[in-house]
Amino acid sequence: MGYTPMIQQYLKIKAEYQDCFLFFRLGDFYELFFEDAQRAARELEITLTSRDGGSKDRIPMCGVPYHSAENYIKTLVERGYKVAICEQVEDPKTAKGVVKREVIQLITPGTVMEGTMLQDTENNYLASIHYVENDYFAFAYTDMSTGETSVMRITRGWNGVLSEIYNRPIKEVVVESGFNEAYIKELQDKMKITVSLVDASKLSTVPNSFLEEIEDKALRHTCMILYDYIHTTQKRTIEHLKNAQYIELNEYMLLDMFSKRNLEITSSFMRKEKYGSLLWVLDRTVTAMGARKLKKWLERPLLSKESIESRLEKTEGFYEDFMQRQEIREALQSIYDLERLTGRVAFGNVNARDLIQLKNSLQKIPIIKQLLMQFSKKEIQELSKQINPLPELLDLLERSIMDDPPVSITEGNIIKSGYNKELDTYRDASTNGKKWIANLEQKEREATNIRSLKIGFNKVFGYYIEITKANLHLVPEGRYERKQTLTNAERFITEELKEKETIILEAENNMIDLEYQLFLDIREQTKRFIPYVQNLASIISEIDVLQSFATVSEENDYVRPTFSNNDTLYLEESRHPVIEKVMDSQEFVPNTIEMDNKQPILLITGPNMSGKSTYMRQLALTVLMGQIGCFVPAKKAKLSIVDQIFTRIGAADDLVSGQSTFMVEMLEANNAISHATKNSLILFDELGRGTSTYDGMALAQAIIEHIHEHIGCKTIFSTHYHELTSLEKTLSRLKNIHVRAEKINGKVVFLHQVREGAADESYGIHVAELAGLPEDLIQRASIILERLENGSSKNDPPTETKADPKSVEQVDAEQLTFFVDNKENLPSSNQKESEIIKTISNLDILEMTPMQALNCLYELNKQAKKKG
Ligand code: ADP
Ligand code: MG
Repeated sequence: MGYTPMIQQYLKIKAEYQDCFLFFRLGDFYELFFEDAQRAARELEITLTSRDGGSKDRIPMCGVPYHSAENYIKTLVERGYKVAICEQVEDPKTAKGVVKREVIQLITPGTVMEGTMLQDTENNYLASIHYVENDYFAFAYTDMSTGETSVMRITRGWNGVLSEIYNRPIKEVVVESGFNEAYIKELQDKMKITVSLVDASKLSTVPNSFLEEIEDKALRHTCMILYDYIHTTQKRTIEHLKNAQYIELNEYMLLDMFSKRNLEITSSFMRKEKYGSLLWVLDRTVTAMGARKLKKWLERPLLSKESIESRLEKTEGFYEDFMQRQEIREALQSIYDLERLTGRVAFGNVNARDLIQLKNSLQKIPIIKQLLMQFSKKEIQELSKQINPLPELLDLLERSIMDDPPVSITEGNIIKSGYNKELDTYRDASTNGKKWIANLEQKEREATNIRSLKIGFNKVFGYYIEITKANLHLVPEGRYERKQTLTNAERFITEELKEKETIILEAENNMIDLEYQLFLDIREQTKRFIPYVQNLASIISEIDVLQSFATVSEENDYVRPTFSNNDTLYLEESRHPVIEKVMDSQEFVPNTIEMDNKQPILLITGPNMSGKSTYMRQLALTVLMGQIGCFVPAKKAKLSIVDQIFTRIGAADDLVSGQSTFMVEMLEANNAISHATKNSLILFDELGRGTSTYDGMALAQAIIEHIHEHIGCKTIFSTHYHELTSLEKTLSRLKNIHVRAEKINGKVVFLHQVREGAADESYGIHVAELAGLPEDLIQRASIILERLENGSSKNDPPTETKADPKSVEQVDAEQLTFFVDNKENLPSSNQKESEIIKTISNLDILEMTPMQALNCLYELNKQAKKKG
């Protein structure tokens, strides 16, 4: 191989970072070579060039300037790529041969720390998955910017893992080499997550404290995989990493991937944006930390009555005292992102401005602490007591850092006077020296009578006295020593001036060095407070979420739910929290929802667009809101704790997995049926719609029966199979309800009111009428409907209680009427039939040849077929 030594060096390093873009530092540029260069040029839209690398062909190359690299790196990382930063690690001037280079950090989607690459109100997670056995996976995730790690057991197989990942901002997943290829592909292609591999046989050592609270071997292992990856990418110790926290999934309401998506909890179904989601309604948080915590709470509703009530109590506290709440909201506005600030402190990349933000935030803490004491609820006062305002840290920052420091930490002007004696001495020396020079200028002007005489400074010659050529003759011989000649001036120095100069420059140099040292020291001291600042951040974000709940509850007229122990659920005048907010012209029609032990299953019927889906979703969202500790959209709310919500809602094909509607329906149904307990909530919206009528109806009925017999949990089942309403007669725990649609002035109007009993069967036709289809067509449809219903009743899936089956005679009679009574009664849409009949009756059979008869029969047959 004829490559130059530098390219050889490149190739050697690149071999270790195959899955990254290698940013190879060359002077003031990061250069990319070979395939990296070709891909980067495309992704970043930069010019692809080439260079001679010693080989026969020139080597593709592209580069980005060192000082503007961040944006390019950001673009790549946002697209899911990884970037390895390779720096020159020795001084090129003293290097023998090729400058030594090393990768100093990997920047990957799951490990970014830079402010510009993170979204303020979103966490940024790196996860690890370790397959244990059967359906058991050990799962962990870390947010590097805040230092939190959660670890859990997932016992529902791969789908359970996907449900945990879904909607959580997990940007990257680490697995050990040998992990199931199909799973990896699914993560990459469908979930759009970067997957990285680690070699589990040589994991780096984990700091003791990180796994202090985790005993289980598999859980420890998955944390170790996670840590190993963090360690290899960051190449330094990560001091703000909190202990990994075990999450017992059974302590939280479980929402599978389908429900998270169908219920539009944190993002809308179609557009995948926050607008239109429950989060959008509930988010009135003030701080970024609060916004992130709200999302976390939404994703893990509580199950313990005690903790739910405790949150509700606090929400109520904030709800009741409006004035205090307003003041809290205001105070929170000046609290910076303490959580992420600690991450940057730990990483050693905070500057003086960050510390000023920390200081400003800390200054507000005592105000918040005091405000909380003014609430009437003792639970809120309790929050106040948990706040440690960290006076020592505040004092340190107040004493040490100037109010408006520069971004750079190496050029001085950071440390306040009075903080450090030595620094003050240098500063005095510098100031006094400058004063002395100013005096000297005055003195010399007077002595020489040259008014334009001035003392200047430049980096090469230091301080000098400058006199224009015109005035040179006024300078007494030997007064100054000549230093430099310019076109129209001469520059001089004096021994005294140089002495002072030495003092000033020395002082300034020392000052800059010392300020830098002092700053590093202050940063180190701040580091020791990290766990306390993290605690503070946690309480502040909790307060923020609670005040947000209170604010939303008040503005939208929500009510505090109570939780019964007897399984009854009663929502008086319940509303859909999101739809009522997005409706512009009409008013949302509230409905009562009632379910108890005796009749936990509701079968809802009603025309399309009448509000069935809305009704079902509002129940799920209300349950969820209650269990995160928020008030709920109703006039009165009695809930019982739900352990899991299962949904099958929406007709859109599953875009994530690319499966057909019906397959998705069945997967979702199966998921519900196999995991639901007596305390779950199941919402099946038009189940069976994705397949043929009988198939769908048969499956729907069998599923209802199964839930009725074997699960008995709260269920709402909406259907357009009117036949299913007869199940009420055989299934004692099922109740029919329907959404009313009424004919007003001959028009069908959706009242969106839910009532007991089954809906009028012909609502589909009413809707067609509403849509403005021609009158005769509507009448014709009614007739066909009747015929179909009667005709098909014999082939229905067997139920003993088919809704008042018409007697055979009745059916025949009706069909007879249809054919015979056409002359008077048939509407114009029946023209064809009447024409056929007319043709038949007008035939003169005796005058026809057999061939003519056959032809005629053929014609009639064709016409009749066209009618379908
Ligand atoms: P269905 O599932 O019966 O076809 P949807 O629940 O999808 O009907 O509701 C259709 C539309 O009707 C909704 O988008 C909403 O605009 C309106 N709607 C539904 N329920 C109500 C209600 N209770 N009050 C006012 N409008 C409603
Ligand atoms: Mg619907």
